[in-house]
Amino acid sequence: MLKIVFLGPPGAGKGTQAKRLSARLGLLHLATGDMLREAVAQGTTLGQQAQAIMARGDLVPDALVIAMLMQRVAGADAARGFILDGFPRTMPQAEALGRELGGGVDAVVLLEVPEDELVRRLLARGRADDTEKTVRNRLDVYRQQTEPLVAFYGARTRVHRVDGVGAIEAVQDHILMALDVEQEAKR
Ligand code: AMP
Repeated sequence: MLKIVFLGPPGAGKGTQAKRLSARLGLLHLATGDMLREAVAQGTTLGQQAQAIMARGDLVPDALVIAMLMQRVAGADAARGFILDGFPRTMPQAEALGRELGGGVDAVVLLEVPEDELVRRLLARGRADDTEKTVRNRLDVYRQQTEPLVAFYGARTRVHRVDGVGAIEAVQDHILMALDVEQEAKR
């Protein structure tokens, strides 16, 4: 069972890269942002609670996101392993994941993209929460609440820093190379 976490600011390409990698490795792709947008679209209780928070670019409360994610991690389709994209985003989420998994995660991929490029990409994407004001807030929230996880994981497992600027295929190749090196090191 392989457990990989994708870290990086909004707009770094986590979704694009995690989706490709999960297809390639036969792992379940779990993106909390996608799950929450689905809940909003379906008008579930969770979706109603999350909608305004997401529109502002703030984080949905830990308890709600943790409960939602843990259900999926425990599912039969996650038995071969999974790639987490957009989770954990806070220290309490990382700690809850660690408790749930016992052994922690196998690898962390940190996608790095300069801030001006992130803003350019997000504004071009045009999602409902990709307005200038919301984008600025999401980047602030990332720096304050999610970036500390880089050090948290750095103390526990390998954090692979990958340059997220460039063609989608080239970035994917760099991720695969980084993870291969990891496998070699374990042999
Ligand atoms: P994303 O698609 O990952 O950019 O997530 C979109 C929005 O969903 C975020 O701006 C948050 O409002 C919410 N969200 C996604 N994942 C999480 C999480 N792990 N914790 C809290 N809120 C989240």
